[in-house]
Amino acid sequence: MLSNSPDLRTVARFPYISAVREVISRMPERFDMERMLNSRSYEFVRIRGKERVMSSLGDGQWPESPLLTEDECVQEILAFAVARMICSVIGDRFLVNRFAVREGKRAGALIGRDRALMLKLADEFGIDAAETDTDGLYAVHFTSFLKYSSKMRSPEWKLLYQRIRKGYVYVDEHKLVRLIEQAVTDHLSEKLPPYTDTIRKALDAEIAEVVTAVGRLKEEFQKNSLGEIDEKRYPPCMKAILNQIRTSQNVPQMGRFAIVTFLHAIGMTSEQIFDIFSAVPDFRADVTRYQIEHITGKISATEYSVPECSTMKSYGICFNPDSLCNKEWMKHPMTYYIAKGRDLRSPSRKKEPSTPQ
Ligand code: SF4
Repeated sequence: MLSNSPDLRTVARFPYISAVREVISRMPERFDMERMLNSRSYEFVRIRGKERVMSSLGDGQWPESPLLTEDECVQEILAFAVARMICSVIGDRFLVNRFAVREGKRAGALIGRDRALMLKLADEFGIDAAETDTDGLYAVHFTSFLKYSSKMRSPEWKLLYQRIRKGYVYVDEHKLVRLIEQAVTDHLSEKLPPYTDTIRKALDAEIAEVVTAVGRLKEEFQKNSLGEIDEKRYPPCMKAILNQIRTSQNVPQMGRFAIVTFLHAIGMTSEQIFDIFSAVPDFRADVTRYQIEHITGKISATEYSVPECSTMKSYGICFNPDSLCNKEWMKHPMTYYIAKGRDLRSPSRKKEPSTPQ
């Protein structure tokens, strides 16, 4: 928790810290929910809140308020509350996560190299961190380090490569800020504020605008990441299973399940998948159609996902993994499909792809 009653400006810069409650209780008349939602004089706040969400769907650029006056600080806190309510009402994981990630990054940028602020925010999010006498490094308790580094995939975050002394991991300021960014992201993506019908109705126009933008962005991602079905992009496991089907070999049950989920995920229709399966030796049209439609969610409540690489491995159907499969970040056949598509489009660009939604 930020100690010593943080000033209004700090709360306005980081409007998710616990001290926001104290600020609101100190000046309740400035945080009138009814006026915030309905008054014309608060329209600016509602628009700014919506724009904050919209910026997370774009390049994340956000015109920071100078926060020179009490009014500006209050407006910023209120606008953030509006932004969170919009996310909460829409409740779309893609949106919530994106907003949370952008806010995490924004926090990192605002902290900059302010060592005192770094430690205060670390404390706020339960990160046990302290300055050391060693090369300007910070000592972070390994449990805090693991809690927030577990989602970071690059090897520089592996505990194995850290300098550890008496249970503390020694990190530079860049890494400490990165841990705080992750803490902010987790905090905002895990805890959504409750909302009422009144809130939903009052923010109707803003919500509709964000929903449209989310839909557009998802469509764009879908187009860019999956694109046209292209067999050259299939991961080796799926190529091998397909080959077994095409050469009328008996494919294990889990292999059939995996290939159906995969072909469905890359956009093949049930009919196209059905045609492929007509080559299996024990083909029965009625059973095959039922199974495909069940797995793809057409006749069941669940649209099954493609199994992760670890599951494929445990079932012995991770066939012929290649150099792309051996990348540290390769955890999923769909990640392979997306990454391979990028490699084929621009062979010089071989970086870590985003995880499929
Ligand atoms: S590592 Fe993953 S993508 Fe590659 S062959 Fe194995 S299961 Fe398929």
